[in-house]
Amino acid sequence: MEIQQRNLMPNIKKQVPFNNLAKHHNLIKKELDSVIKDVIKNSLFIRGKYVDEFEMSFKELIGTNYCISCANGTDALTIAMNGLGVKKYDEVIVPAHSWVSTASSVINAGANVVFCDTKLDNFNLDVSSIENKITPRTVGIIPVHLYGCPADMDEIIKIAKKYNLWILEDCAQAHLARYKNKNVGTFGDAACFSFYPGKNLGAMGDAGAIVTNDEELAIKSMMYSRHGGLKKGDHNIIGINSRMDGLQAAILNVKIKYLEKWTKQRQNAANFYSQNLTTLQNIIIPHTPQNCEHVWHLYTIKTEYRNSLSLYLKERGVQTSINYPISLPFLPSYSYLSSKENDFPNAFSNQSKILSIPLYPEITKGEMNIVINVIKEFFEIHK
Ligand SMILES: *Cc1c(COP(=O)(O)O)cnc(C)c1O
Repeated sequence: MEIQQRNLMPNIKKQVPFNNLAKHHNLIKKELDSVIKDVIKNSLFIRGKYVDEFEMSFKELIGTNYCISCANGTDALTIAMNGLGVKKYDEVIVPAHSWVSTASSVINAGANVVFCDTKLDNFNLDVSSIENKITPRTVGIIPVHLYGCPADMDEIIKIAKKYNLWILEDCAQAHLARYKNKNVGTFGDAACFSFYPGKNLGAMGDAGAIVTNDEELAIKSMMYSRHGGLKKGDHNIIGINSRMDGLQAAILNVKIKYLEKWTKQRQNAANFYSQNLTTLQNIIIPHTPQNCEHVWHLYTIKTEYRNSLSLYLKERGVQTSINYPISLPFLPSYSYLSSKENDFPNAFSNQSKILSIPLYPEITKGEMNIVINVIKEFFEIHK
């Protein structure tokens, strides 16, 4: 019985995984083991010195005056909007194509989402579509530096100034990405980061942070995320509980030292893919605009043959991912907005063509060559 069942399931060897967190962490296992032991020894589990140290190093790394850590990147967005004073009937402009938190955080902060189309070539906010979306109720814009590629900040800042809107950068996929030689996260009124394990800087569980230069916003965000007060027993506003664990902070304190190295490794891997895939006629490789330093959270190609290519890769042991198969306006959770395909033509067109291929700091040339060769082989057959 068992043998028969096994035969029914062809045993596909996973040649190239989409990501390899085990390899990533095993390379620094000694350091991680030692800080985890230290956290247990001191038993500082919620906030405490590990969290203070992380907040200090992260704000220094990004180049802001404040870093407010919290439980995850989604909370970071909601908390920051609370700090920005978002209220009922306010409208916030969000790209049509992103991870779902960019939109759900607006609703959870008590405001309304207004989707704006994204570009065809690099998946970020299409700045030419923003002004059409502005109404007297618009209060802010959330540009997402999607896949690690900076959004067109100069244009977005121009529009925000013209209409007196705040900017909250969603940097969840863009740690150390640079726009005109300045880190993303330093352009808006505030910026949010995620340290979900698979992000460019990841904890071993959920974690997130808000960075800002605005003292009032920083204090409000701190209070809101810590039961409404800064000190034990203080409850000046109605808050939530969203804090970073000592354990996650201690792990991040180890990993943050490697972030620049890992970013370079991601960039080298992306260059290798681009050099080898650029000649293929049936795929469009990711486009990085001038003045942008991409940090390659994801390497996302576009092809009309997306579904058959991803299946072909899967059958040959190459894991891929679609980020994201349905753009936000077309999700069941936003069906109440009755969005039409024509309202977001670029996002709609991209959602059926995008495919992210394996990329992580430790990926080898051998692994990338497997991916490249399988893609080439597919297009030989499907010419
Ligand atoms: C991961 C992510 C978030 C949310 O972060 P979590 O830590 O998973 O809550 C928000 N926005 C974008 C673009 C993301 O990729």
